Amino acid sequence: QVPLKPGRSLMDWIRLTKSGKDLTGLKGRLIEVTEDELAKHNKKEDCWICIRGFVYNVTPYMEYHPGGEDELMKAAGTDGTDLFDQVHRWVNYESMLKECLVGRMAVKPLAAPKGEKIHVLVFIKGSRKNTLVSPASPNLAHIKENKKEAFASGHSEIYDWFQTDSLITIVIYTKQKDMKAELVIVDCQDKRLRGEIIVGDHSYLVEVDLYHAVQEDVAVNIAEKVGKVEITLKKKDNIHWKMLGQPLESHNTLIKRMDRGLFYRKCKLVSKTEVTHDTKLFCLMLPKSTHLPVPTGQHVYLKQIIAGTEVVKPYTPVLPSLPLDFKELSCHDGACLYLMIKIYSCGLFTQALDHLQIGDYISVSNPEGNFKKSQVQTSEDLFLLAAGTGFTPMVKLMNFALTEVSCLRTVKLIFFNKTEDDILWRNQLEQLALRDERFEVQFILSQPTKDWVGKQGKISSSLLSEFVKRSRKDSKVLICICGPTPFTEQGVQCLKDLGYSQEEIHAFTA
Ligand code: FAD
Ligand code: NAP
Repeated sequence: QVPLKPGRSLMDWIRLTKSGKDLTGLKGRLIEVTEDELAKHNKKEDCWICIRGFVYNVTPYMEYHPGGEDELMKAAGTDGTDLFDQVHRWVNYESMLKECLVGRMAVKPLAAPKGEKIHVLVFIKGSRKNTLVSPASPNLAHIKENKKEAFASGHSEIYDWFQTDSLITIVIYTKQKDMKAELVIVDCQDKRLRGEIIVGDHSYLVEVDLYHAVQEDVAVNIAEKVGKVEITLKKKDNIHWKMLGQPLESHNTLIKRMDRGLFYRKCKLVSKTEVTHDTKLFCLMLPKSTHLPVPTGQHVYLKQIIAGTEVVKPYTPVLPSLPLDFKELSCHDGACLYLMIKIYSCGLFTQALDHLQIGDYISVSNPEGNFKKSQVQTSEDLFLLAAGTGFTPMVKLMNFALTEVSCLRTVKLIFFNKTEDDILWRNQLEQLALRDERFEVQFILSQPTKDWVGKQGKISSSLLSEFVKRSRKDSKVLICICGPTPFTEQGVQCLKDLGYSQEEIHAFTA
């Protein structure tokens, strides 16, 4: 992120897009853009970028881009899709840049990459409406082939379904040995069933318009050893179903996880409690027909419409509290998501969040993130370096480490904050340290009052060398770090300077 000039915030951008100003220079016309034409628009004052087949004039957006003009210029006059996906594929650019839409790329016949789903872009001229349609037939052979590879060979049928008088059960044979419920996300609303299964770095989807209505609750069962996933629905009426339903657009597809669009469902705000003077714990209730476990170390995206524009930001679910014996609380049964969110006085998204009333709804995405629990499972010493709300991924991580990783000898949280008042869940952390001898917490303040007798300072090699130490020579360590980007980058560098290897460090980033 770079500092933006005054008057160049996201809100200012939204205002400009609503002003009626011609931001493309084409007076509302949409054109077909050839590669040669695109390449000509490669200067700051005349910059076009293609994302997923659509071309945008981003010159008016330059000064508003949170990552800075230079980042945007990397894709000037070219197809910036990969760059965009690497940095922030979750940003809702269609909504943010809709007034900058120049048109679409002229279609070139494309060879389908092996095993990938082809998206044919159908552009409705003049309507500014983009529709993604995937043809069912041309690449099914590839999909099947790829499915076999990813699901291990043996089964040609990947999913099946059966019924009793009252139940419909859909069975997916992934053949993935360590299949877990947290790799299965199910939503069922208005007869639309969507079941996504994460298989390595792929996503398999069952998506059907059900033949008959079902009740609200869904159940997910896993046979871990054989990788069988069962999604069970309760029939509304005890009648025989002739078929499961009509397949929807992405039904029975297996594609790279990154290529599957984010799916959102509306969740109800059920409580909002103060954690500190500026941070609140939001409890969001999932629809009854949603199964959405968020794995340790992963985040979700929240989406709100702010001044007519869809705005998306990432947040990391926490537990409702730090239970002293770390047993799962009864209220943490998967029905609710808990988010610890700092409200910035000039923050666009967090101000809107803070204005939500109990009972209001907000859209929540599927989880994402590249943290792997296996990194902790083999560690003897776990160090967690958190700054401010960078504490959020550490909550589930501590829970997991202290309850499920028997080889861990120490779990140490080094928590950086400005002042004492900013420390999140201080009391609970201190109590946990008293109860569990493997757990230790160290608070470090950058702007303490003179009464502070604890440690003071900012992240540095000398400070880290004091707190991050192997419990035994050669003990296996994992160091996780999360906070403002410069904090994280500096922390990683300091750790490397201290001799820790890349494999021993996990940085939480966007
Ligand atoms: P903006 O309108 O973007 O910014 C307004 C002002 O707020 C800025 O000028 C700055 O002063 C301040 N500000 C905004 N963003 C930041 C920032 N990131 N760091 C420091 N100052 C900032 N936040 C949480 O509170 N809880 C979480 O669990 C959480 N999880 C995250 C997970 C990931 C993977 C990432 C990348 C970020 C996470 N964040 C979390 C940050 C969150 O996504 C938003 O950036 C934050 O809520 C600010 O949004 P905003 O629109 O209110 O602020
Ligand atoms: P904050 O209160 O502003 O800062 C917390 C501590 O970090 C303070 O001691 C602060 O010291 C220090 N710090 C801030 N910037 C620093 C820098 N450039 N170099 C060294 N130390 C620095 O933090 P916050 O407002 O809660 O922000 C938390 C951040 O974590 C946000 O940026 C958020 O996006 C990020 N986050 C990321 C994830 C993820 O998974 N990627 C999850 C949650 C949160 P000073 O006194 O010097 O400011």
